[in-house]
Amino acid sequence: MADMRRCIGSAKFGIDAHEAAITDFPAQPSGRDGLGRMCRPHWTAYTRALRTASGGARKDGSATTKPEPIRTKPAKASKVEPEVTADSAADVG
Ligand SMILES: [Zn+2]
Repeated sequence: MADMRRCIGSAKFGIDAHEAAITDFPAQPSGRDGLGRMCRPHWTAYTRALRTASGGARKDGSATTKPEPIRTKPAKASKVEPEVTADSAADVG
């Protein structure tokens, strides 16, 4: 059996602390024992939440709003345009 380790979780982001297998913890050289303090899935969730909380990686650009492309209105049934066949007439030599 793998040794268990305490995942501290994060109350701030709603991550509950729990016990997890040591193999579930990501390596963290800066850590005291070379392992992260949170299990892998929780660490991922934590860093993602941190990024979101600090403004997000991508800027939420709402400055440039694209104007909607003007669509040609569908022909109304009430007014039917007559077919023009001028092109075929001009072709005759
Ligand atoms: Zn965890």
